[in-house]
Parts: sequence; structure tokens; C-alpha cells
Amino acid sequence: MKHILPNAMLGMLGGGQLGRMFTIAARAMGYRVTVLDPDPESPAGGLADVHLRAAYDDPAALDELAATCAAVTTEFENVPAESLRRLAERTRVSPSADSVSIAQDRIAEKRYIAGAGLAVAPFLAIETAQDLEQDLSGHLPGILKLARLGYDGKGQIRVATVEETQAAFAQLGQKPCVLERRLNLKTEVSVIVARTGPGETTTFPVAENQHEAGILDISIVPARVAPAVAQRARDMALQLAEAMDYRGVLAVEFFVLGGDELVINEIAPRPHNSGHYTLDACINDQFEQQVRTLCGLPPGSTRLLSPVVMVNLLGDIWRDDEPAWDKLLSLPNAKLHLYGKKTARIGRKMGHFNVLGDAVDSTLAQALELKRMLQ
Ligand code: ADP
Ligand code: MG
Repeated sequence: MKHILPNAMLGMLGGGQLGRMFTIAARAMGYRVTVLDPDPESPAGGLADVHLRAAYDDPAALDELAATCAAVTTEFENVPAESLRRLAERTRVSPSADSVSIAQDRIAEKRYIAGAGLAVAPFLAIETAQDLEQDLSGHLPGILKLARLGYDGKGQIRVATVEETQAAFAQLGQKPCVLERRLNLKTEVSVIVARTGPGETTTFPVAENQHEAGILDISIVPARVAPAVAQRARDMALQLAEAMDYRGVLAVEFFVLGGDELVINEIAPRPHNSGHYTLDACINDQFEQQVRTLCGLPPGSTRLLSPVVMVNLLGDIWRDDEPAWDKLLSLPNAKLHLYGKKTARIGRKMGHFNVLGDAVDSTLAQALELKRMLQ
């Protein structure tokens, strides 16, 4: 694949924090960036060389992106696959519309992953009310999840009985769902893969993820799992990326079950919140890998330079005004990242911080102490 070299214009569909961190990485490497996002105050738009304020399916905006960008990527999976297809007729696009479509739909995603010979949490596809007439007992107590457009635990309802499942399906608007058995999780981990092409692949060290109310709270790296489990997670993520002939950065979330069995929970066709630790703790971070894979360059080294703990900063701590950052900023081993969002809301991702230390346990203790102080 032809290398796209610095100073070229790169296109980003979406102006959220992931688009913003891509923009920072790309500009640090000497590329220029055009962001497409309808929001005039999007976190990435203001940092980009060009901000196209239009909808993700606006034909004129897509044509301008295609005409002015050497390559285009995305920061979120809900960009219309049709837009990626239209762009791909005229410029380089990664990941492909096909890869993004798989990640857009939990039913397609789980079927694809299982078809690639990898384990997923046991599930039933519930596309119509009729699908609820089958025997659900093997999947209860469970979680009914909207197949499309869910994130951060939204569009999910916990159910214990058939009646509750029927009520939940109605509450979710009778839209296609998956019913997943509620599993006993020992822990959760994730792996970020960067793939430019066959054999040109790297994986980042495995992150251990803790969620609060369905939203990622903390990532701990290296994950506190046996080395063989971490290796298996990296191998499974790689196997999936190869099966998809995936181009770009792919995040793979896993459940770790009682006997250290790994099942894939879901995938994201882009950098991931659980990979934000790479910004400060790896030679190349996940956004540089996104730039590199988009430009046909080999992914850079993913070597971990230090144990690290990432803590998400949600809008909850903003209350009347800006949280008191003094303590965090006075520490020599903590790094603050804010996304430039103008309004804080409960549950809204406003930023994160990374704490680097000599050992995982002491670093985690320090990170939790900092988190407590900000609350
Ligand atoms: P989202 O797209 O909102 O991230 P997930 O399917 O990843 O949705 O679910 C969010 C979190 O809810 C998971 O990280 C996990 O902590 C919990 N969860 C989801 N599915 C299950 C399950 N089948 N069993 C136990 N916990 C689950
Ligand atoms: Mg998830």
C-alpha cells in the first residue's frame, strides 16, 4: 500500500474526544486534519485545520472530504456505513464500511465473532416479539441489549423472567435486541489491535477494566491476570482482526470468567476509552497507530514503558465549576487530559488522567486516592 506521508490532509468522521486525540496525534506527526461533525463546538473541530459542519450523510460534505483528503477514518461506529462506501469510491477509507457495519449491530457482531471460531457470551437474537416465545430459560437471568446504538450501558435492561423480558423488549421499542445471559465476571479486559495489512499488526498490552453504572471507570495496566490469559486475549484479538481483514485500530472487550475462560463481549472499530493509558505509557499511543494504519505505515511499537492506571473524569464532578486540579497537576507522575467540552453533564466523558508508577498496586492506590479527592 502506498504510504501517505506527513503534510497530507487526513479526514475524520466525528468530532468527539476520540476524533480530538486523533487530530492531536496526526498534527504532531505533521499531517493536516479535516473533521466532519455537525456540532460547531465539537471537541475535535476546533483543533482541526478544517471543520466541516454537516451531517455524516451530507453528500456535499462527503464529496468535499473525498476530494481534499488522502485518507479518511472514523471515531465512532454509528457513522452510516453508506457514507464510508461513498467515500471509499474516491479516497482511502479505513476501517472499511463492512468492518464498521459488523460493529454497529450486536447481532451481526456476535454472529461474526462466533463464526470466526472465537467465544462470545451466550446470546439469543430477539428481532421480533415472536422470538420471545422460544425457551429463554438458558439465557435468564440476563440482560436485554438493543442491537444498535447502545453505548456506556445505555439501551440495556436487566431481566430475570420471561415477563420482564417481554416488558423490557416493549420498553426498548420492540427494536432488534440480544438477550445475553448474565455471567459471573471474574474481571473484564480489553485489547487494542492496530493492523495495516496482513502481518503488519501490533497489539497493545492488555488493560483490566472496571465499570461503574455501565461506564468505564478505571483501566489498570498491566491487567492483573495470569500471563497466559493476557497472551490468549492478545491472540484472540489478533485472530479476529485477521479474520475481518481489518484495517485500522480495533478494540476488543473481553469478559474473564471463573475458570479464566475468555469470551469476547464486544468490539469497536476505532481507538477505545480503555486504550487511553497508551497516551502516556506506551512508545506509540493508540491514536498514532490510527494515523499510521490509515496512512499505510507499519504500526509503531506498543511497548509499555511503565505500569499505569487510567481514571475517567465524568461530568458528575463538575458541579458549579471546574474541579480543583491543583493536587493532580502538582504530582510528577500524573497526566491530565481534558476534552474541551463546554458543558458538563452527569455521565458525560469530560477527560481522564493517567497515573504512572513503579508497581500496579501502589499506582492503583494513588489513582483511587486522586479520584476520591476530585469527587
Ligand atoms: P456498552 O456498549 O454499553 O459498553 P456492554 O455490552 O459492553 O455495553 O456492557 C457494559 C457493561 O455491562 C460491561 O462492560 C459489563 O460490565 C456489563 N455486562 C454486559 N453484559 C454482561 C453480561 N452478559 N454479564 C455480566 N455483565 C455484563
Ligand atoms: Mg462495552
